[in-house]
Amino acid sequence: MKYRFFPTLSEEELREVQLQGLKWTVNHAYSGSKQYKQKLKAAGIEPQAISSLEDLQHLPFTTVEDLREGYPLPLLSVPEEEVVRIHASSGTTGKRKVLAYTQKDIDIFKLMLARCFELAGLTPLDRVQIAVGYGLWTAGAGFQLGCEYFGAMAIPIGPGNLDMQLQLLTDFQSTCLCSTASMALLMAEQVKKNNLLDKINLKKAIFGAEPHTPKMRKYIEETLNLEDTFDIPGMTEMYGPGTGLECKAHEGIHYWADLFIIEILDPSNLKPVAPGEVGEMVVTSLCKEAVPLIRYRTRDLTRFIPGKCSCGLNFPRHDRILGRSDDMFIFRGVNIYPGQIANVLEEFPELSSEYQIRLYRQQGLDFMEISVEQKENTSISENLPPRIEQKIKEKILVSAKVKIVPPLALPRSFGKSKRLLDERNGES
Ligand code: AMP
Ligand code: ZN
Repeated sequence: MKYRFFPTLSEEELREVQLQGLKWTVNHAYSGSKQYKQKLKAAGIEPQAISSLEDLQHLPFTTVEDLREGYPLPLLSVPEEEVVRIHASSGTTGKRKVLAYTQKDIDIFKLMLARCFELAGLTPLDRVQIAVGYGLWTAGAGFQLGCEYFGAMAIPIGPGNLDMQLQLLTDFQSTCLCSTASMALLMAEQVKKNNLLDKINLKKAIFGAEPHTPKMRKYIEETLNLEDTFDIPGMTEMYGPGTGLECKAHEGIHYWADLFIIEILDPSNLKPVAPGEVGEMVVTSLCKEAVPLIRYRTRDLTRFIPGKCSCGLNFPRHDRILGRSDDMFIFRGVNIYPGQIANVLEEFPELSSEYQIRLYRQQGLDFMEISVEQKENTSISENLPPRIEQKIKEKILVSAKVKIVPPLALPRSFGKSKRLLDERNGES
């Protein structure tokens, strides 16, 4: 298959693009940003000395602290007259991160998203309901730019506003929805409640900004009668969403290796993990001008998927973003990711995809309560909570109290769902 927005590169040619991009990036960061120059000098790096991709491993890491330190325009590597825009992160963790863009950065950003729409199999006749945040966020701007560049029709509604979402779905016959999975869940529930399925024409959905479970996805696909759905990763630091896309074969996420080098490292020693193991994604941009990234520690956890994809696209793959290293919480001495709990809950067909974990402290002891919704039209036997508790104990080695709540009882979100409520006074 010939793609319009993808270069055809052999493996060797891709390595050459990466090497040239790496050399350019280190040089550019060194000469353009005092902050980078200091970091590179302190690590004994002379930009001219970069001669192979193996040299990457000697470069110093860039972290979120470097971004915060340079607030409001951290790691800026071009003169200000070249900056045409800023975006800021949703602040998944801590203070807002602000990233600047040159016109070329904006052009690459829209190329990334155009690739996503192409890989998802859209055509210029698709109508794309963009139900993600506009404004300082990257998502609205990115989906919009990419959709227009790709040539489909953008319907830029933003998140929330369920009545208007449903009206646009019916009046404009939107064929593709771009949103968080949480927002899509809300829309699916509303379509069901209002019996609108026969009146809408949605065929595809692209979900980003937060992890979602297979159960949640299946519910959305079935309720909205979708042909296909896709996971889209990304982050403000890497232009925004659309650094890759799950392809139609659903065997991982192809990422744009001509724009980034991705390493997967063990966060405890910052060495590469064994092939196929989970680690922290560390990224180096290859042509990012305003704020180049040199070995930026994303804190996102994933793994490489080796081998060629059955879809035939010659771009490497990583797995879904499985969580963030800073999502981890420590409960009675055990390190736990919310995703591990979600995985256990996945096994019980009587439950919906929605859950919330609450940690609290009583008389100096920590407790965990997991509220999880019953699936509609199922009956719950009395021994279900103890069976789930038992499974959690087996798999995660901790005791939790499981509370089954009625369908639709847990809070819904227009953006990213909050799965963890830590009420232990910030102590852990
Ligand atoms: P922001 O820069 O505020 O848009 O947030 C980016 C962060 O959201 C990433 O570092 C991930 O932790 C998370 N994220 C974005 N897309 C996904 C996705 N498709 N799956 C899981 N997590 C995601
Ligand atoms: Zn593929």
